[in-house]
This record gives sequence, C-alpha cells and structure tokens, in this order.
Amino acid sequence: MPLFPQSFIDDLRLQANIVQVVQEYVPLKRSGRTYKGLCPFHSEKTPSFHVDPDKGFFHCFGCNAGGDVFKFLELHERVGFQDAVRMLAQKFGLTVPEPVEGDAARQDAGLREALLKIHEVAAAYFREQLELPAAARARQQLRERGVTPQTIEQLGIGYAPASREGLKARLQKQGFAQGVLLQSGLILQRDTGESIDRFRNRLMIPICRDTGSVIAFGGRAMDADQVPKYLNSPETPIYSKSRTLYGLNLTKQAIRKVGYAVMVEGYFDFAQVFQSNAAQPN
Ligand code: ZN
Repeated sequence: MPLFPQSFIDDLRLQANIVQVVQEYVPLKRSGRTYKGLCPFHSEKTPSFHVDPDKGFFHCFGCNAGGDVFKFLELHERVGFQDAVRMLAQKFGLTVPEPVEGDAARQDAGLREALLKIHEVAAAYFREQLELPAAARARQQLRERGVTPQTIEQLGIGYAPASREGLKARLQKQGFAQGVLLQSGLILQRDTGESIDRFRNRLMIPICRDTGSVIAFGGRAMDADQVPKYLNSPETPIYSKSRTLYGLNLTKQAIRKVGYAVMVEGYFDFAQVFQSNAAQPN
C-alpha cells in the first residue's frame, strides 16, 4: 500500500491545529491549558472530552477515544488514515506529495529512527565531554559569555573534543553501521576513504525538533583562527534547515501564551534571552 513520506505527515501534524479542527465538529471551551467539550463519540451531558493543543492530542475520559488530529478525523468522518491526511492537507493548504511505496516508506522510517538515535547518543556524548578536564577552555568560554550552568543543561550544550574519532568510536560501539553514520552528517568521509568526526574542538549546540528530539548540531569554533566560526550539520533525512526554528521546543508554550515571538540571530543570543526570561518569576 502506498504511504505518504513521514516528513510530510510530521509537517502536516505541526500545521494542523487540533483545536481548530475539532472545533468544526464540537464546541469547545478553554479550561486552563486544554479545551473541553461534549464527546462526539459517545452520548454525555457533562463534558469529558479534552483537547490538548500543546501535545496535539484529544482524549475522552468517558469512552476512552483518543489520538492525534488524524485519528480524530478518521473517527469522526469515518475515513481511513490516507483520506484524513488528504482532508487536512487541503484544509491547511499543503500540497499532497506523491505517495511512496510501502517498502520504501518502511525503509525511510527505519533510517529516520536510526538517525534520531544517533543524534541522541551524540548529544549525550558531547555533554559528557564538556565535563572532562580537556574541556576546561570550553567551560571557560561559556562562563565568559555569561551562560549559566542551568542554561547549559537546559539547552543541552556540549563539547566536541579535538579527537578525530571520538564520536565515531562511541557510535560504532553502539552498533551503528558505517552507511548510516555517514548519512547522519556527524561523521564524514575524506577523499582518502578514512572517516572522521565532522565536529572537532567545538562548543556543540543541539538543534531540536519542536518535540525536543535532537536532529542536528551547531558547532562553534573554540579558537580565533578556526574556520568556519560556526559549523552546522548538513541537511539529512531528519533535518531541513529552512524548516527548523532553533529553540522552538523550549519556547513554543510561551509563544502560544503571549501570542508573539522575538527572533534573534544566533544560538548564544538565544541563550541570553532564554536565560533572562527563565530567571524571572512568572
Ligand atoms: Zn467519549
């Protein structure tokens, strides 16, 4: 059976506001962070049907119906997943891509899963390196920039040591094959055929999807003569630079609450703004 590419489904889920979709069928009332109304899937007089816009889920405590925005349409319109996708795409103005064949889609999903796992291991590795004696200068630079230990932890900032094969060795130990390591963009192959860590001697800033999964890194040079000053992950099956807004995973709730966002240029500009807002009692 043909399927839509996972990246398209992810995009659509992000675009399709579940409250807006549900409200076309069910009158909802705001109740704190969530919305509630009378369940359309069973008969009731007091509302036990809840919609959580942050998580993108609905749930009924009466009949236990629940799921994401696609599931809601499937249940309510009595259509299959693919038709629910088409209906939502049309509603939110997204062009439906050519469906891919089942095998290809499964392979695609398997690869994306492996790439996410690699980034999770890499983020932990870089954080761990920042604690070691060899990272004294990196910690010093963060202090000089006024980045507090708490912000370092919240943003998951780490350090890529000068070693050429530190991360590669860690990932190989975890059993990742060479091909998928190269596709992650974290390991690169030289003309000589030898493969090495892309990021060396850099402060490492994880770039996350809005759900918090790490999908890429930005690496800042440690030395004045080190080029480029900022080295970023290349585009991969899980990372599209133009579709990713750095910091959205940490700020989306606040943005939703106040109804606007302030954009700044760099990771450390973000760190400063984030830190000064986090320090204020709300
Ligand atoms: Zn119900």
